[in-house]
Amino acid sequence: MARELHTARLERKDLISESSQCYHFEFVLDGLESFPFVAGQFISAVAEDGDGKQQTRAYSIASAARSNRFDLCVNRVEGGFFSNHLADLADLTPGDTIEVHGPHGYFVLKQPVTDSILVATGTGVAPMRAFAQWLFPEDGPDRSLGKDIWLVYGTRHESELYYHAEFEALARRKPNFHYLATLSRAGESWGGLRGYVQEHMSKIVEERAARLGLPLPAPAVDPTLPKSELKFDIYAYICGLNNMVASVRERLAGYGWHRKQIIFERYD
Ligand SMILES: Cc1cc2nc3c(=O)[nH]c(=O)nc-3n(C[C@H](O)[C@H](O)[C@H](O)COP(=O)(O)OP(=O)(O)OC[C@H]3O[C@@H](n4cnc5c(N)ncnc54)[C@H](O)[C@@H]3O)c2cc1C
Repeated sequence: MARELHTARLERKDLISESSQCYHFEFVLDGLESFPFVAGQFISAVAEDGDGKQQTRAYSIASAARSNRFDLCVNRVEGGFFSNHLADLADLTPGDTIEVHGPHGYFVLKQPVTDSILVATGTGVAPMRAFAQWLFPEDGPDRSLGKDIWLVYGTRHESELYYHAEFEALARRKPNFHYLATLSRAGESWGGLRGYVQEHMSKIVEERAARLGLPLPAPAVDPTLPKSELKFDIYAYICGLNNMVASVRERLAGYGWHRKQIIFERYD
């Protein structure tokens, strides 16, 4: 069955990192009254390349659902078709358009909300921004149920921490939102965390277990338990390139975490 395509018009495009050529995009779907999706889902964007061949790429929605709009966060990939196609769109009125279908995907928060560790590198922060907007809306009731939400966000340089000011502001506004930005190649002036996301995530897991008096590694879950009865008091949500995702998953498995406790999205 052909998927229904929607035309998305670019209303705004901001270069949010010169060094990594990353853009924040705001699209509007003029043909739809609303565009409902669950925070964390992605859209598939469709366009013809220079040879007239149809190309499709997935992009996480970088915002929570709001009327007929959605945001994206995309960096140029050298030699890549679609990322450069998006980065070259013009946002001048009336704005260039792309075709999209969706929403798609299962990278969404477990309900009811539990303590959660969000781990991202690079543009993998896009769905985390959507989670944050959904959990802690500026103009509506808080949906976090008071649970601890950690965002562990890693990049190489400070200039590549997308939405850094937004997350800092959110952490000031919400005491149960903990923002840990870490740089693997920080300059001397950086006063924040250093190193890889894995290390900081491990500290969170260890400190939480100690604080709650929980054994680590966690005891194995009864394998005969039906899937529907598998419930955990903490989940990890990981998004980014495969190397990082694999390494974070491995660490969590080492703490005895069940694979159903680890939800991930790989970009490559
Ligand atoms: C579910 C899902 C959600 C995604 N969400 C986002 C998003 O929010 N933002 C975003 O920027 N990208 C996202 N991606 C990646 C995106 O779909 C494209 O792969 C990316 O934009 C490159 O496409 P391209 O056509 O420019 O390059 P291509 O011509 O497809 O690829 C060129 C080369 O670059 C490699 N490559 C692919 N992606 C990356 C990358 N991110 N960094 C470095 N090398 C890469 C490929 O393996 C290939 O060798 C997502 C991917 C998936 C599967």
